[in-house]
Amino acid sequence: MVSQLDKGEVKNCTGTVLRLERNSIHDGQGLRVVLFLKGCSLSCKWCSTPESQQAVVEKGYGRIISVDEVVAEICKDEIFFFHSGGGVTISGGECLLQPDFVAGVLGECRKRGIDTAIETSLFAPWPSVEKILPFLNAIYVDLKHPDGNIHKKLVGVDNRHILANLKKIDQSDLPFKIYLRIPLIPGINDEDDALIKTLSIAASLKKLVEIEILPYHRLGVGTYAKLGRSYELEDVATPSREYIIERTEFLKKQCYAVPVKVGSGYI
Ligand code: SF4
Repeated sequence: MVSQLDKGEVKNCTGTVLRLERNSIHDGQGLRVVLFLKGCSLSCKWCSTPESQQAVVEKGYGRIISVDEVVAEICKDEIFFFHSGGGVTISGGECLLQPDFVAGVLGECRKRGIDTAIETSLFAPWPSVEKILPFLNAIYVDLKHPDGNIHKKLVGVDNRHILANLKKIDQSDLPFKIYLRIPLIPGINDEDDALIKTLSIAASLKKLVEIEILPYHRLGVGTYAKLGRSYELEDVATPSREYIIERTEFLKKQCYAVPVKVGSGYI
């Protein structure tokens, strides 16, 4: 069967991109190019890239670019990928809302031997998720809260669809790896019960490599004002190193055979 990618239909499509960052150590192995896309269906109260949430170019944030143009930009860093074991990670917004574009970019990168990953909330239609999986070495899934009702209060939707997608990707026969990420927000999702429930979800996944803790930060707060929006977590302070270590050690002490670490570069 000739796929859309083989026919060149996906390769020639365009995407709406927020920005491309080089030499990132936060979203995958080695040095990476991270491509942030526009558009997200969630509205996390702590979102550090509010300029990524709208799918369209707004107030100077974002541009429309072709698969070929992006791949050419990514390939400029091939030497760093080679020496560091890095590659490309597509993030958001929610990258699964532009599945043809993402499949096109990742498919071209894979043809060149470049390591591929996405970071996602998994809040996307299953056909979109399924389209991307064959082009992935790793998938980083952010789990915001294990309780559906609290999840809805924090990000606008409950987590049933996300957990169903997580189960389905774990059942895939494809050889990609799964990393679960917890954005650790003081006073919001850092209580013992929530962390233990997320740990038990992680322990049920056969493709899981590890849990990564992503400590809350306030780097995107200034962007809310630029967009004419208010920031809801104004009273939440950046957590201390001791707090991050204590929460991480708490998870490690539970009786689950799941490796836990703080995300690269955070402490
Ligand atoms: S899923 Fe990511 S991009 Fe979307 S609102 Fe949440 S933090 Fe922001």
